[in-house]
Amino acid sequence: MKVTEEFVEKMICPACGAKVRLKEDKSGIKCEGCRRVYPIEDEIIVMLPEKATVEDEDPAASNA
Ligand SMILES: [Zn+2]
Repeated sequence: MKVTEEFVEKMICPACGAKVRLKEDKSGIKCEGCRRVYPIEDEIIVMLPEKATVEDEDPAASNA
């Protein structure tokens, strides 16, 4: 099954229940709540919190 943005929009983060969205490079999907990034392996989204990495891409907030 192809991973599409429409498909991802129907999913929620298993860790916090927030919405997730497809990363621009389609390497994974990112939670808008806890910022976990779930990997996409062979076009399968790995929605496992233990597989996720936390991506901090908000330098203004984290490094005042
Ligand atoms: Zn989350």
